[in-house]
Amino acid sequence: MPEPVSAPTGKIAAPTSAGPSAAAPAPTGRVRESTDKESWPCNHTITFRIDTDDPQFQSIARWAIVKVSILSHHPIAETLYSPEVIIKMETPENAAGMTNLSTLNGFIVSALVRIKFPGYARNARGTARNNSEMWHVALHELGHMIGLEHQSDQSSIMYPTVNEVQDYSFGDMQQLDLIGNYNC
Ligand SMILES: [Zn+2]
Repeated sequence: MPEPVSAPTGKIAAPTSAGPSAAAPAPTGRVRESTDKESWPCNHTITFRIDTDDPQFQSIARWAIVKVSILSHHPIAETLYSPEVIIKMETPENAAGMTNLSTLNGFIVSALVRIKFPGYARNARGTARNNSEMWHVALHELGHMIGLEHQSDQSSIMYPTVNEVQDYSFGDMQQLDLIGNYNC
């Protein structure tokens, strides 16, 4: 499980012309069960920023975000200011990727997603990592960002070790669909 990180970043500033509805959405009134997985509040628009200039990295990260958003029914919007999710090209502790979630009252409120850029490292065989691996890692880490946990099924993108899987499996899609309906 991801380690908690520093206090959540602020929500984006509400437009001055908008009314109270523009305030950060409060979690729904439903009492959370202790068995609930970590998830974002229902219908909450998740904001993110990519903190790396590399255009190839940005392209893959954005496509992965689009997939997660569609499959989980969560609106996800890019913003330059005070995003809840920060996505970085970085090598975390010898892993291909790492996602740290911050939660408040059982809800995810922010995330730091770090994805190793393939050109910056070599795999165990000494060959250069490639975009397909980065695509895999991006889908895996953004799966954690939205609330997915590891799976023992090797066809799942959430299998803990990097493999050849290049998309969410049918089981992953069912999980993403469920996650989008948590707290609703
Ligand atoms: Zn993982």
